[in-house]
Amino acid sequence: MSKKWVYLFTEGNASMRDLLGGKGAGVAEMTRTGVPVPPGFTITTEACNEYYARGKQFPEGLWEQTLAALKVIEEQVGKKFGDPDNPLLVSVRSGARESMPGMMDTVLNLGLNKETLAGLARLTNNPRFAADAYRRFVQLFGKIVLGVDGEKFEHVMSEAKGRDRQDTDLTAEELMQIAETFKAIIKEDAGVDFPEDPYEQLRMAITAVFNSWMGRRAVDYRRVYKIPDTLGTGVNVQTMVFGNMGNDSATGVAFTRNPATGADELYGEYLVNAQGEDVVAGIRTPKPISKLREEMPEVYEQFSQIAKMLERHYKDVQDVEFTIERGKLWMLQTRNGKRTGMAAVKIAVDMVNEGLIDKRTALRRVQPEMLNQFLFPIVNPAAAEHATRLARGLAAGPGAAQGRIVLDPDEAAARSEQGERVILVRTETAPEDFHGMVASQAILTARGGLTSHAAVVARQLGKCCVCGCGDLEIDYKAGAVHVHGTDVILKDGDWITVDGHSGWVYAGQVETQEAEVIQVIRGQMKPEDSKLYGYFTTFLSWADEVRRLGVRANADTPTDARVARLFGAEGIGLCRTEHMFFEGDRIDAVREMIVADTPEDRRRALAKIEPLQQGDFEGIFEVMDGLPVTIRTLDPPLHEFLPHGDREIEELAHKMGIDVATLKAKIEGLREANPMLGFRGCRLGIEYPEITEMQARAIFHAAANCQARGIKVHPEIMIPLVGDVSELRMQGDIVRRVADEVMAETGQKIDYLLGTMIEVPRAALTADKIATIAEFFSFGTNDLTQMTFGMSRDDAGRFLPLYVERKLLKDDPFEVLDQEGVGQLVRMGVERGRSTRPDLKTGICGEHGGEPESVKFCHRVGLNYVSCSPYRVVIARLAAAQAVLEEQK
Ligand code: ADP
Ligand code: MG
Ligand code: MG
Repeated sequence: MSKKWVYLFTEGNASMRDLLGGKGAGVAEMTRTGVPVPPGFTITTEACNEYYARGKQFPEGLWEQTLAALKVIEEQVGKKFGDPDNPLLVSVRSGARESMPGMMDTVLNLGLNKETLAGLARLTNNPRFAADAYRRFVQLFGKIVLGVDGEKFEHVMSEAKGRDRQDTDLTAEELMQIAETFKAIIKEDAGVDFPEDPYEQLRMAITAVFNSWMGRRAVDYRRVYKIPDTLGTGVNVQTMVFGNMGNDSATGVAFTRNPATGADELYGEYLVNAQGEDVVAGIRTPKPISKLREEMPEVYEQFSQIAKMLERHYKDVQDVEFTIERGKLWMLQTRNGKRTGMAAVKIAVDMVNEGLIDKRTALRRVQPEMLNQFLFPIVNPAAAEHATRLARGLAAGPGAAQGRIVLDPDEAAARSEQGERVILVRTETAPEDFHGMVASQAILTARGGLTSHAAVVARQLGKCCVCGCGDLEIDYKAGAVHVHGTDVILKDGDWITVDGHSGWVYAGQVETQEAEVIQVIRGQMKPEDSKLYGYFTTFLSWADEVRRLGVRANADTPTDARVARLFGAEGIGLCRTEHMFFEGDRIDAVREMIVADTPEDRRRALAKIEPLQQGDFEGIFEVMDGLPVTIRTLDPPLHEFLPHGDREIEELAHKMGIDVATLKAKIEGLREANPMLGFRGCRLGIEYPEITEMQARAIFHAAANCQARGIKVHPEIMIPLVGDVSELRMQGDIVRRVADEVMAETGQKIDYLLGTMIEVPRAALTADKIATIAEFFSFGTNDLTQMTFGMSRDDAGRFLPLYVERKLLKDDPFEVLDQEGVGQLVRMGVERGRSTRPDLKTGICGEHGGEPESVKFCHRVGLNYVSCSPYRVVIARLAAAQAVLEEQK
């Protein structure tokens, strides 16, 4: 006996997502819970995989099982597939575990041919409806299954409609004529006769679904979202119900809560006398779901009850699709609704308060990166008042953005690659535009509602989007956008500003400004005046209850430190002292120090820098009162501080009172073939101990001064680029000696730690030795990655993207920690270090400290904390909590 490839909707349930795909599991679950769903069956994702395993052949037994399932359905609904007198029509719908663009669109009304068409017209006594169904079927099948360019069909449709008619105004005769034209186009383009045999139609449609799994768009999408190719797609074959049978019929989509804001309200749209994708495709402008309450109160009532029931059943917001056939409601799909980051947090917090889910579930529901959206810019309200409002559409995706108009997605991708800020402006978007959408600052469409393709994708990407902006008329050929009711014509390349919070589109570049949360953080808004801020902090406080990993920030200035603290940082994990060297005219003293010939000269120059550094440290200690601050001694190669152009060198020589040739020789002498592996890090302090000395003195004096003022100070002094314990010992001796001197001098006891970065592979390998001196390790995973891969960070941009594209590497290791390689060194460093010093404090301060997957790894290897940029602190807090939850699964 062959394997079971086909499941009736009555045989499946929600837990079978992997096997049946999301759509299949959803309709099965709804069927099981008594929701009205048109009967049907699902071909499994395993069948899809087997199809590929067999070189694109149907698995053994699949077709027979399909026919058998069809028989069951026929009996259930009392119609027969291909029967001219009483034809059963079906839809064929793709459905992978995760819904994704590029998967085959749904074919509706499959099973129609000359005979069954006549039968349908007779049976319903509605020839216009039958013709409309046929026209749609030929169009969909031609485009989706036979691969004919959909625009050719659209063109025929708009010709037929003329200027002021809608699709619903076309007569049966016209529709039949259109269908014939479609077939002629198909014949010419695809070189095949339109299949008349319903079974042949079905077989072809199923094959097309399988094939779409490996289509370019689907593969691209899976790469972006890191979904494995091995999941496969399901195929759903389902009895048709008809939303296009007249004014008592409709089709629609809705969310059980507002996916943009999270408000607890039914949110959706429907179109009367329409079918399938009409709503999302923007064929006509749909009505808001609230209108249904007036137009069909009973259906609305039933619908809202089902929506609430599904939400309670799944304990999450549902995104549902429905059709009303002559006053009877049918549910066609339910899935967890995609939402903005802001909505995700609000909904999670609300559902906890409603007792629907617990806090832990709430924490799992929000992807850490989504928190970024709370930090998204808005249009400056004052600037908006004076700006030229062009048109208003639906606020569909968060943020506000300026950009130049681009009408073509390829062009958008190309121009953004060149660093241009573009806004993709389309009549509507389709899955094949994905790359252009990703590349744009914002997406603006003329047609389509809040559930249109543009809106859904934008929200998922966390991208600013305004859709359904009906006053825009886009002329692709002329590269122009007309604004109705005005004489404004925008051209490709013109600047516009799009406000994804209000839906307004402005001419030119209108100033944008910080998000509410940022305003609160910066003290420009009272916390109690911002609901968003309340949700944000409540949610994050739950993350803090759960996580064990500490979260610190990388901050070099008191301003950064303040922001970090407000975002919940529990200390500074990396304070880079060299940034302080650049401020104002300090650089002059620094340069003097570098070109100095004798230690005395060098000390003289350093003496000028010392009080300035000390002041900076005091500022930071003050802000971080009570929290640890890790300060790294000078790290970068010295030539980075020197000028390079001739004119600049001359100026500097003049300022320093030395001759140009001497300065040039000095600079030349510092040039290195391989600066990344050259004279930098602790190597500087080893040749010039007076630098380390000066820095240590600045730190301890700052600490003593602050302490005297009642500020709690916990400096942690960190020596960079150590590869051998001797380097740390030598630098550590200086630090400890200076600490003793300052303590003796000031009479203050300063509680400090001495530690090192672990960023040279050899340091990780000899961590047990290094820990004899180091009281803490901070993994500098930027350098550690560079040196482990032997790929220079400064040069990797040339070749690394190709590695990722060709899948040689899953991710860019400078973005996502390479757990297998670099991670092993981290793990080893922790273990060996703690074998010497059990209470060794460990953290990470590379870019990876704010990347969710890497944060989770840090939790698993037992680091004490991660440190990341101030704006990523909230992301790290959530990721750290999720790491604990994942452990408990
Ligand atoms: P998608 O994955 O793009 O949402 P669906 O398979 O859900 O694709 O199909 C899109 C739309 O087609 C549905 O929302 C529904 O309006 C229509 N549709 C699909 N199957 C049927 C059916 N059996 N009867 C009526 N309409 C259907
Ligand atoms: Mg679709
Ligand atoms: Mg759907």
